[in-house]
Amino acid sequence: MRIVRLSLIFTILLAGSALAQNASDWSEPFPPFQIAGNLYYVGSKGVASSLIATPQGNMLINSDLEANVPTIRASIEKLGFRFKDTKILRISHAHWDHDAGSAKIKELTGASYMVMDADVPVVESGGKTDFQYGNRGEFRYPAAKVDRVLHDGDEVSLGGTVLVAHLTPGHTKGCTTWTMRVTEGGKTSDVVIVGSPNVNPGYKLVNNRAYPQIAADYEHMFRVLESLPCEIFLGAHGGYFGMEEKYARMKNGGVNPFIDPDGYKKFVADKEQEFRTELAKQRLGSQ
Ligand SMILES: [Zn+2]
Repeated sequence: MRIVRLSLIFTILLAGSALAQNASDWSEPFPPFQIAGNLYYVGSKGVASSLIATPQGNMLINSDLEANVPTIRASIEKLGFRFKDTKILRISHAHWDHDAGSAKIKELTGASYMVMDADVPVVESGGKTDFQYGNRGEFRYPAAKVDRVLHDGDEVSLGGTVLVAHLTPGHTKGCTTWTMRVTEGGKTSDVVIVGSPNVNPGYKLVNNRAYPQIAADYEHMFRVLESLPCEIFLGAHGGYFGMEEKYARMKNGGVNPFIDPDGYKKFVADKEQEFRTELAKQRLGSQ
């Protein structure tokens, strides 16, 4: 009942937005698969999770909704890895659809939880200090203790794989875009896992008392995204990078469809345009 009510709230919240993810997809299982090299997709249809497998254990990006934890576990096991070998847990940003399952995953695996500095208070308060959703009980989730506080440009490495945490703020104060390199068939590719460039419905870009520098942060985020070399384009929701369509194409063989530098550039440019349109609208409205 509670899940049904929450889904309804998400749907209402996101309805009508060009940025909307179909919230009913968020807990719908999706077959796990190898993206490239030691990088795997273990998320649901609507929210993305990545597993990076190394000889010293595995790293997971995004714990997703609490209800998704058993599905993530099943996906990891289906790929032939052990859930308990999850040594490091990171997130794209401190919103319930990417971090609500973190407390559970920490409890089940003992993974070390690593979060960008400005998102730490939100994660450790279970969403209570979020600038937009903090006073909305329906968006709270179990608080989780952060084991390592990350700063812009920090590297997280395990078993020979290095991930770099880039602060890409605006959507949340500590929104993080992860980069890494994967090697497959003798070719090494730059991977970008976008945190989120979206301006959610209700976000105040002008005169935002809870987040005064929000518009400047979005500007900074777009400059960072533009500067990152990207061959393999991923993000916090499959909808960002056409996950389902690329997964279908992948099965036909040939060039890996997740190698999509042009798709990445177009995504960043389109999202910046959406931000600029919304900012202009809000500035006009505030005069
Ligand atoms: Zn979000």
